[in-house]
Amino acid sequence: MTVANGNGSWLERSRKAVWHPCTQMKLHETLPLVPIARGEGAWLTDFAGNRYFDAVSSWWVNLFGHCNPRINAAIIAQLGELEHVMLAGFTHAPVIALSERLGALAPAGLGHAFYGSDGASAVEIALKMAFHYWHNQGQPQKTGFVSLAGSYHGETLGALGVTDVALFRDTYAPLLTRHATVPSPDARNARGTEDARAVAGRAADALERHLQRHHTTTAAVIVEPLVQGAIGMAMHHPHYLERARAACTQHGVLLIADEIMTGFGRTGTLFAWEQANTPAPDFLCLSKGITGGYLPLSAVLTTDAVFDAFYADDASRGFLHSHSYTGNALACRAALAVLDIFRDDDVLAQNRARGARWSTMMQDFAKHPKVHDFRRQGMIFAFEIETDRPDFSRWCFAEGLARGMLLRPLGRTLYFMPPYITTDDEFAQLVECAQQIADNA
Ligand SMILES: *Cc1c(COP(=O)(O)O)cnc(C)c1O
Repeated sequence: MTVANGNGSWLERSRKAVWHPCTQMKLHETLPLVPIARGEGAWLTDFAGNRYFDAVSSWWVNLFGHCNPRINAAIIAQLGELEHVMLAGFTHAPVIALSERLGALAPAGLGHAFYGSDGASAVEIALKMAFHYWHNQGQPQKTGFVSLAGSYHGETLGALGVTDVALFRDTYAPLLTRHATVPSPDARNARGTEDARAVAGRAADALERHLQRHHTTTAAVIVEPLVQGAIGMAMHHPHYLERARAACTQHGVLLIADEIMTGFGRTGTLFAWEQANTPAPDFLCLSKGITGGYLPLSAVLTTDAVFDAFYADDASRGFLHSHSYTGNALACRAALAVLDIFRDDDVLAQNRARGARWSTMMQDFAKHPKVHDFRRQGMIFAFEIETDRPDFSRWCFAEGLARGMLLRPLGRTLYFMPPYITTDDEFAQLVECAQQIADNA
């Protein structure tokens, strides 16, 4: 659709009527908003016909391109049957099928799915369930949570309480419950001759020491497995997850894996957790790619042990949490179409080959004098740009757009997280654009 004859430009109208997320609105006095008319594959087209390659998958949600014919068809079919029904007291085919399939695909033992509408609500659900689990077990003093330095788990007040990104957190600190932070296993923290596994081991030692001291008051540890996204694509060795799992089991603390960003193939496996040689976490939080970037949906998968602790005649032992759109039928149907694509196109194997080819394509670029710490995990490529520009991320965003690329650096970390349908040619264009940005940074 177009916006009918309003007054003024798109820019002015959107600035007045729409309060845009994660934005100082005054910035848009000088930086134009980009009005998108259409999407197709990995490309977005504005009303003037300019095309932008969606190198960040629209904030990490898109997997198989915009206006994907198969996901479109699934949603259209579902529209003819049922758009939504409340999930308290009612159920429907897409939510049952999705819960069973997620349970079968996730690390073993996560057979119960509770739904929310976005990532932050999934984190809230996992935190509340973990606390309530211990409450029901007669241990109401276990109220604390532990997260990693640089963690990001969303921006509602509960999720922000376990988030350690100053930009999002500091202003609201007086509103937040202070939870413990332990060192990040970020491989770039290596000292001397340490490799990534050794850094992970050292960070795990610190977690273990913390739990030894505080386990009686700790409900759960929450981690972003393999890649801490929002802090700047900090990557770690799966050994950390093995040690964290063992430490939580030993000390009677629940473990929450926040795979909101890493899930659905981003790190090379369907879920990042699979790369650790260890039993499942107690909670797996999923969102972002779950509907291929179509509709808001999140899920928290958990175990029989957690589910059973709530199962009783007493209503207050139940998990009395709800969101209006819990288990929305259209969103579940989109998620089922996404899982069909993974299966039918053997996406994970294709991505392994793509990831390897694209890494090779970046070999020369990684040696650019202004590029540091090139790293990759599956379909996430990240590197630091050395620059004196104080406004690098804004400048880079504008430079990218001028070259037909949607790039949104995190500080000086530039990353590519393209949709999985990206071609080698498109990826080559992306690398060329990054080359020009590095030359001028
Ligand atoms: C994006 C993200 C969230 C929050 O999800 P929203 O849908 O933005 O609320 C939580 N955790 C991680 C790891 C994320 O990347």
